[in-house]
Amino acid sequence: MLEHLVRLGMAYSEYDGAKDYFYSDSKCIGCGICEKVCLSEKIKLVDKKPAWQRNVKCYLCYACLNYCPAHSIQIKSKIYMKSYTEENERYCHPYATANDIAGQKDGVNSEV
Ligand code: SF4
Ligand code: SF4
Repeated sequence: MLEHLVRLGMAYSEYDGAKDYFYSDSKCIGCGICEKVCLSEKIKLVDKKPAWQRNVKCYLCYACLNYCPAHSIQIKSKIYMKSYTEENERYCHPYATANDIAGQKDGVNSEV
């Protein structure tokens, strides 16, 4: 039952383009890594800040959140709840660099 609900939520989120799901806080240093690791190209840097494009699918891979070196990307909370990402650590696979992720876009490594 729970699994079905989670799958339904994820399907809806993907359909919805995960709009209004992420944001970057004041710790953003404008490095552009989030844009580069976003395989769906949902993130575009605007004035050195990430902007999650509407009507672009989000794969919910969380690469943007986990590879941001400043831990600036957060998941928006529901009303009256602090986002758990503001307090929690991030996880990056020890053998997969941001460059490795970005290189999957065209099968060609790009500089990060
Ligand atoms: S990776 Fe983090 S610090 Fe770099 S531009 Fe994106 S949000 Fe800002
Ligand atoms: S979760 Fe993945 S697909 Fe969605 S915006 Fe972040 S990097 Fe892009």
